[in-house]
This record gives sequence, C-alpha cells and structure tokens, in this order.
Amino acid sequence: MTLWPIIPSIGGGCAQLGFKSGFVAIIGKANVGKSTLFNTLLGQKISITSRKPQTTRNRILGVYNEPECQIVFIDTPGIHTSNRQKGLNRFMNKTALSASEDADIVAVMIEATSLFDDLDAGIIRGLADKKSPILLLINKIDAVNRTHLLPLIDKVRGLSDFHSIVPISALRAEGIREFVGEIKGLLPEGQPYFPEDTLTDQSERFIVGEIIREKIIMLTRQELPYSTAVVVDEFKEDEQRNLLSVSATVFVEKDSQKGIIIGRGGGLIKSIGTAARKDIEVFFDTHVFLDLRVKVMRDWAKNEETIGRLGYT
Ligand code: GDP
Ligand code: MG
Repeated sequence: MTLWPIIPSIGGGCAQLGFKSGFVAIIGKANVGKSTLFNTLLGQKISITSRKPQTTRNRILGVYNEPECQIVFIDTPGIHTSNRQKGLNRFMNKTALSASEDADIVAVMIEATSLFDDLDAGIIRGLADKKSPILLLINKIDAVNRTHLLPLIDKVRGLSDFHSIVPISALRAEGIREFVGEIKGLLPEGQPYFPEDTLTDQSERFIVGEIIREKIIMLTRQELPYSTAVVVDEFKEDEQRNLLSVSATVFVEKDSQKGIIIGRGGGLIKSIGTAARKDIEVFFDTHVFLDLRVKVMRDWAKNEETIGRLGYT
C-alpha cells in the first residue's frame, strides 16, 4: 500500500507501453466532496455541488484525457441510510453501488473534517469482495490541521486492502496529481472509450436541468430541494443570433412547495432563473433566454414510475 505524504509532492507521468484506459468510480457518503473532485478533475463544472446532502442523483461520466491514457470518472450519488422518501433514495444507492461494480478502479472518499462513522466503514466493508483496486481519498484537508490526519489514517488503513491512501483537497486542487498518478499506475491497457473531445456522457439538456436544480437548492430551504426535479422541455440554439432558448419545468411534490419556489410576487423563481441563466451563459458561451415554470406532480419521489418519467432511469 502506498501512503501519499500529507504535503502533496509532484507526481505523474502516464505509464509506459501502449495506451491505457478505464473507468474510475468515485463513491462515498453524501457531502464528502465527490462532485467537487469530479469537476476539479475535468476543469469544468458538470456535476452540481452543494452543502446540502443528496445533491447528485444520477451517475455522471466525465472524460479525462492525456496523450497516453483516458480516464473515465464516474460521479455518483452519496450512499446513505436515510429512509425518507424511499423510492428516490433506493434509486440513488443502487446507482452508486452499481457504478462501483462496473469500474476498473474504485475511489472511496471520506472527509478529514468529520468523524469517520459507521456509514463510511460500511461503504468500505461493502467493497471488500470487489476485485478492482480501491483508492481511499481523504478530502477537505484544507479545512483541518494536518496533524489530525494521522490518527484518522491509522483508524481507516486496516479496514480494507487499499491500494493507496491519498489526502486531497478537491476544492483547492491539492493532491490531484497524486490521485491521477495512482490511477495511471493501475489502468489496464486499452483503447479510449470516448472521442478525445468528449467531456461527459450527459446531454446539454441534462446539464441545463442540473444548473437550474443547483440554483433551487442554493436558494431554498433544506426540505424543498429533495422534492424538486427539473425537466428541460425546449433547448433551441440560434447560432446567428448567438442565442440559446431554454424552457424548463420544475416539478415539486405539493402545492405548498410550488408556492415556495415561486415566492412572493414571483420573486424567488425570478432569482432562480437569473442565477441559472448566468451559469448557462458561461457554460455554453452564448446569450440565453430562460423560461421556467413550476408544476406539481404529487409525491413523485416515492413512486418508481414518476421517478423514471422525470429522467431517473
Ligand atoms: P458530494 O455530495 O460528495 O458530491 O459533495 P459536494 O461535491 O457536493 O460537496 C459538498 C460540500 O463540501 C460543498 O459545500 C463543497 O464546497 C464542500 N467541499 C468539497 N470539497 C471540499 C474541500 O476539498 N475542502 C473544503 N473545505 N470543502 C469542500
Ligand atoms: Mg455530489
């Protein structure tokens, strides 16, 4: 097992003969920083991040290229035990676990800032019978005194046969070279899975929907984000006018939630729209016209069929 130094050093270099390629699943509890790492690795914000748990719902692929290798990262929903709203929760856990089945390498993330708990331990134990090598990432090292890391490392190192333990800060891009270096050492030889200019397997519509959902999460209270899904109904580019027209529907579970999202005098939906429009403009480098509406689909997050209809399949 390699234990990377807590102070990151320069690592790197793609491996020797032949092209290498493979899939790396990033899994762990909600909120440890998986999506932040995913975005840092890809140099673009594809996956939404927030302080509120259970932000990521789908498995999202991101393609990282170097001259001699291609790494396909899989961002996953946080694994959790909460039994609230069973349907969507179950879907998200299944999504995360099946990503780890499909991957060549599994990166399990814990955070340096919180106590390592039973859920973290359970996730790691659950990987014990996997054949793929496991890298343990300890994230958010920027937020702790580095002397706290050693006891944490001591506590976790015996839990599994980790190929290596890498302390990182996804937010400040520390330890990323070491992480990528470890992956390169483990990747099988093989051809690229995606053309070099592919950034993600998600459609532009999906990314737009996720940007809108992120703004809802940012601007509303804890309870509401979980009940929200966004479907992009129209996505039309007018290249001559350098204008992208987007219409989207925000689905909520109850009438009262619809009122909250719209806000007094339509104030909140307007703020959500403005914030989302700005991010969409940056992402697509174009002017954006964004039309948002809010609809109630009763208890959609508890029902397999509506979960599917809203794009979580
Ligand atoms: P996920 O649920 O595991 O995908 O977590 P997110 O990527 O959405 O991040 C959860 C929260 O942790 C967000 O508020 C991030 O800004 C924060 N975060 C992520 N990585 C770091 C890090 O390296 N350092 C610090 N201080 N915060 C981080
Ligand atoms: Mg996430």
